[in-house]
Amino acid sequence: MDSNCLFCKIGAKQIPAKLVYEDDDLFAFEDISPQAPTHILICPRKHFAALQDAHQDDAALLGKLQLVAAKLATERDLLAGYRTVFNNGSGAGQSVFHLHLHLLGGRHFRWPPG
Ligand code: 5GP
Ligand code: ZN
Repeated sequence: MDSNCLFCKIGAKQIPAKLVYEDDDLFAFEDISPQAPTHILICPRKHFAALQDAHQDDAALLGKLQLVAAKLATERDLLAGYRTVFNNGSGAGQSVFHLHLHLLGGRHFRWPPG
């Protein structure tokens, strides 16, 4: 855990959030500023600033983020269209530097994203 990291603190329940899923590897919670009717952030408990900080040993963990997103999307009846997104780097809109997968659903999404 990085003691200066907002999402590490949410995972450790030192800062409150609306948790929707957790296990030994991951936790997921509702985004404080939702950009869609469903907007969930899925985080590894292990602290990575961004995707390029993960290594081969982390492959299963990265896959699990996506599988949990699909499970939540299925449970929430979002299969008509949902999006999973990693923003990596400030130029891509990353503002919290603990890797997190956005799960967005419940509205129409355009392509390409802005
Ligand atoms: P990023 O911009 O890094 O891809 O995504 C960070 C996300 O974290 C944003 O969508 C933002 O609304 C959300 N966020 C920032 N601070 C908090 C917080 O304290 N609690 C929750 N639940 N979400 C947060
Ligand atoms: Zn962290």
